[in-house]
Amino acid sequence: MNPMRKPGKQELPLVPLRELVIFPHMVVPFFVGRPGSIRAVEDAMNGDRLVFLACQKKDVDDPKEEEIYPAGTVGRILQMLRLPDGNVRVLAQGEERGIIQRYLHANNAFHVQIKVIEERREITPQVTALMESVHEAFKRYAKFQKKIPPEAITAIERAEFADKLVDLICANIPLKVPKKVELLQLEETAERLEAIVVTLESENELLALQNKINIKVKKRLEKNQKDYFLTEQLKEINRELGRDDGDASGAQELEKRIREKNPPQEVLDKSLKECRRLSKLQPMSPESGVLRTYLEWIADLPWHDVSEDNRDIDLAARILDEDHFDMKKPKERILDFIAVHQLKERMKGPILCFVGPPGTGKTSLGKSVARALGRQFVRVSLGGVRDEAEIRGHRKTYVGALPGKILQSMKKTGTINPVFLLDEVDKISSDFRGDPASALLEVLDPEQNNSFMDHYLEVPYDLSRVLFITTANSAFTIPHPLRDRMEIIEIPGYTEYEKLKIATDFIIPKQLSENGLEWADVRFRRDAILKIIRGYTMESGVRSLEREIAGVIRKIAREAIRKGFTSPPSGSALQTAAAEAADAPQGAPQAVELSASPAAVETERRDARKEGSDIEAGDAGGHEAQVAQEPDEDDEEADGTDNLSEARSGGKPAAPDSERRPFATVVTASAIVRYLGNPKFQGDIVYREPRPGLAHGLAWTELGGTLLPVEVAILDGPGDLILTGSLGDVMKESARTALSFLRVHYRRFKLPADFQKDKDIHIHVPEGAIPKDGPSAGITLAAAILSAFTGEAIKQGYAMTGEITLTGRLLPIGGVKEKVLAAHRNRMHTVLMPEANRKDIEELPREVLVSMKFVFAGNALEALLALFPEPL
Ligand code: ADP
Repeated sequence: MNPMRKPGKQELPLVPLRELVIFPHMVVPFFVGRPGSIRAVEDAMNGDRLVFLACQKKDVDDPKEEEIYPAGTVGRILQMLRLPDGNVRVLAQGEERGIIQRYLHANNAFHVQIKVIEERREITPQVTALMESVHEAFKRYAKFQKKIPPEAITAIERAEFADKLVDLICANIPLKVPKKVELLQLEETAERLEAIVVTLESENELLALQNKINIKVKKRLEKNQKDYFLTEQLKEINRELGRDDGDASGAQELEKRIREKNPPQEVLDKSLKECRRLSKLQPMSPESGVLRTYLEWIADLPWHDVSEDNRDIDLAARILDEDHFDMKKPKERILDFIAVHQLKERMKGPILCFVGPPGTGKTSLGKSVARALGRQFVRVSLGGVRDEAEIRGHRKTYVGALPGKILQSMKKTGTINPVFLLDEVDKISSDFRGDPASALLEVLDPEQNNSFMDHYLEVPYDLSRVLFITTANSAFTIPHPLRDRMEIIEIPGYTEYEKLKIATDFIIPKQLSENGLEWADVRFRRDAILKIIRGYTMESGVRSLEREIAGVIRKIAREAIRKGFTSPPSGSALQTAAAEAADAPQGAPQAVELSASPAAVETERRDARKEGSDIEAGDAGGHEAQVAQEPDEDDEEADGTDNLSEARSGGKPAAPDSERRPFATVVTASAIVRYLGNPKFQGDIVYREPRPGLAHGLAWTELGGTLLPVEVAILDGPGDLILTGSLGDVMKESARTALSFLRVHYRRFKLPADFQKDKDIHIHVPEGAIPKDGPSAGITLAAAILSAFTGEAIKQGYAMTGEITLTGRLLPIGGVKEKVLAAHRNRMHTVLMPEANRKDIEELPREVLVSMKFVFAGNALEALLALFPEPL
């Protein structure tokens, strides 16, 4: 307090201030513009230079009394300066705090009567303690709030009494106006000290939090700055090294690559637009990554590159023959196809579809077509494809999206005209994820496939120059719209003779080379191959055969290594050895000519048939004789194989020098057991002896034909029909029909009228739990039931197929080829079938025709009578 003046009430001109609260001990400049305020300043200047400075509650030009805080500070004007614009600059020093008591208007200015708040200087222990706390809080505050000038800090530290301390702190820290006013007007020292401690501490908390956030933000900013700095440095380094630096995003490079691919205008336009977008993106951003991958796809796909077609049909024919045995019909069709394709580049022909059991060479034939045409080959398996996106891709907005299988394969081939094999079209299925078949239709349909739309690519792709080939196990399960556009080429299963040929001419050389033994003289005897076919495989195709042969060859490879043959000798050595083997002296084991000539096999078949008829006459035990055996030379060869070099060097191990003969061995039938273990399949059928109640049907499945034994037992009972063995509905109905037919014709079979009375009929179809269905088992069921009731066995070696009706008709059946092959494979010598199927027999391989008998029956009665030895 100014010692010159007495405390108590005073009358002073008032200057309302905006957003400014002045505390004692503070020297503050401020501008005064309002006429009332200027007059108040002038009044003060005319007197003792004292004004009352109080803050306005609102930022208004002409504040009313109630719009001014009552608490304020008496200020001494140190300086007053009139500015040219009419405003006045005032420098004032805060002296005492005061509260407005009354407004007195004078000279068109505010004059107020105030009560001065006395400055208290007494120091009590409480005040000392509180001041300590204030100092502490302020110290922390000053640490966070770097803006406080050091001289202010010093002044605060030196403040001798409480009010000065509070006033100085308030003057130097940024606080909201109401808070400042509150701290200004408090009279009690302790109260004021407490209030400032609370204020400082809450400010401290806020500042600490801000500080934490600031540190985090700073760190992030620093990282960004560092990245920026490093990228700039990298650019500079690249520039110094003379590398292109302006293409951090890779956009220019991609644009160049895409232009080189010469895509259609629409694709080019879109990709150039995307390239521009890419160049503007941060190279490290995820979006730029996605876009770059997309553009790389466009740059990698073939848009114009074509491979030159082989136009030489004869060469194509030679190549097809080189790769596959027989397959006359498919090969013919393929050659026609190739010929037309040569004449008309963009042929809108049907799509070829190879249909047949597994392992019949459908896929490898497709590969062969590509080789014959001189085109790239690509294969996509459609087995189990349920999702349309697998064909057509995902939209690129999906994380990790890619084009579908079609375009992925096109990228792999690198040309726009590959041979494209779609394997297992019959295995695609549709569910909630869309219909892959309809997407496939767009791929295959020549009307649409010049602008195939992949979801990922989003631009049309021309597939019209691709040669599509499809494969299926069954034509019936191919979705209809697809089948409509396909030309079905059947590739049925193989006969034993064909398998033998395929094994000798194709599989064995292939497997020798795949297992690194092409240099060795490894020969399989015919009986050895037949043993594998009969004992280790039961299939229409040759896949298991190939697997088993590969197994044997691996064992031989091991043997070769064990005997010290590690590196392939030169080609000449091999030839010499082969030549020597051909004219081997008497004593040496004979290297048998292994690939059977068709004539020899035919003779064998004829013999087999003769023996087969013996069997028919009752020699059940001689069944094995159906297949001609090589003279058993196992006795001569103790271990079943014959190492020629060993034999010639007197049984001594091969000398490990360069002079030694190459590894040579002959694989015999008995060696097969040693290599592959005991046969997995019995060479003859399970039901070798004829038994009453047993009949052998033939069924067609996707895996080829199969033998379907049917057993019937008659039991005492209320007359039920018991059916077991995974029978489908159609088969169950066939069984009922067969039974009714027999009941109608009981006289013809010399059965009593009530033959079924008090009898249950149990029909069982064993052979695993493969679901069996289809109408062609009708005659088999009837025959088995009849045999069970009459106690007469069906003729041995007879297999049958045919659908019967209630009135006794015998309806034609499908899959004749596969069924007959199955009978042949299972050592049946006669197949009974409907007369209407006679025409199908012509398509059977010759050796099947010569080695099997066929009985054609016009109706069910005729068929049943032909099946039993004695006239019933
Ligand atoms: P699929 O596609 O019909 O299931 P693959 O094409 O995979 O059968 O054929 C299986 C194996 O059998 C292949 O190694 C193939 O070379 C061989 N193969 C099948 N049929 C013949 C044949 N007629 N001539 C030569 N090899 C064949």
